[in-house]
Amino acid sequence: MLSLREWDIPFDELKMGEPIGTGRFGTVYRGNWHGDVAIKVLNMDHLDDEKTLEAFKIEVTTFRKTRHENLVLFMGACMKLPRLAIVTSMCKGMTLYTHIHLRKDKFSMHKTTNVAQQISQGMGYLHARGIVHKDLKSKNIFLENGKVVITDFGLFSVTKLCYGNRKGDGLSIPPGWLCYLSPEIICSLTANQKYQEEELPFTQSSDVYAFGTVWYELLCGDWPFKGQPPEAIIWQVGKGMKQSLANLQASRDVKDILMLCWTFKPSDRPDFATVLKSLERLPKKRLARSPSHPIHLSRSAES
Ligand code: ADP
Ligand code: MG
Repeated sequence: MLSLREWDIPFDELKMGEPIGTGRFGTVYRGNWHGDVAIKVLNMDHLDDEKTLEAFKIEVTTFRKTRHENLVLFMGACMKLPRLAIVTSMCKGMTLYTHIHLRKDKFSMHKTTNVAQQISQGMGYLHARGIVHKDLKSKNIFLENGKVVITDFGLFSVTKLCYGNRKGDGLSIPPGWLCYLSPEIICSLTANQKYQEEELPFTQSSDVYAFGTVWYELLCGDWPFKGQPPEAIIWQVGKGMKQSLANLQASRDVKDILMLCWTFKPSDRPDFATVLKSLERLPKKRLARSPSHPIHLSRSAES
């Protein structure tokens, strides 16, 4: 059994700066530990649950072995009861979410494809290491001078340790989460109203589904099922219905990638190596533009 002393980073060595923001697992702070770092402090209850803690430690051990250009550098975890913190390198740029949904930046087809390729490369690596991301979304993808950096892989399992995720009765769905969930996850959500997030059937295939949604955001500058209430989205996705691509004026190949990633049956979805190959075969110029996606010359997004 691993003892608490064996955590990589002693809490006292971490210099905590101001908070950057709060997500589902806790608050992220600027910090310093031999350079700029991001410190994600997880709010935990039930530290007496040795088994869960032990499972998490094993998970952390696998994060430590990740080394890839397109993955955030995992520097370590540290513990000061009752707090657990995950320390990673600080991402410099903005998230894809900020680019696409807040700044309404328009990427060229070349850049769109390039970003998707980098995501596929990072994800392919994670999967080869046996790590399922479980929370791939535009908020967890940073762009640093054109380089994709994926964050928060595997952290979803930690929710069992977190406050605030103990959702009383019924379904509580954070906004912007639903459209990344594959049909099999949607179905298990609705089948079990008092669901435990860590029991949701996340797999490599559900990561591919989530990637499909990111690819859609990149292409359309918006979410699938935009403006529809959660119940309507759940019903449609559960039935195998997909966001219509009628208004997306992209080539057949571009749409095919979307539809393959969004395939109803998990085992019929491609893996990231296949997605990457399809992306590499795409022509680098957008053939036509959707009227809802005009070119903005005033603001390019190179960061
Ligand atoms: P979410 O991913 O849903 O936005 P998080 O808890 O992961 O929630 O992040 C909270 C805030 O901290 C977000 O604004 C996020 O962009 C930022 N953040 C998270 N990780 C990093 C990091 N490694 N570098 C810089 N900012 C980060
Ligand atoms: Mg995040």
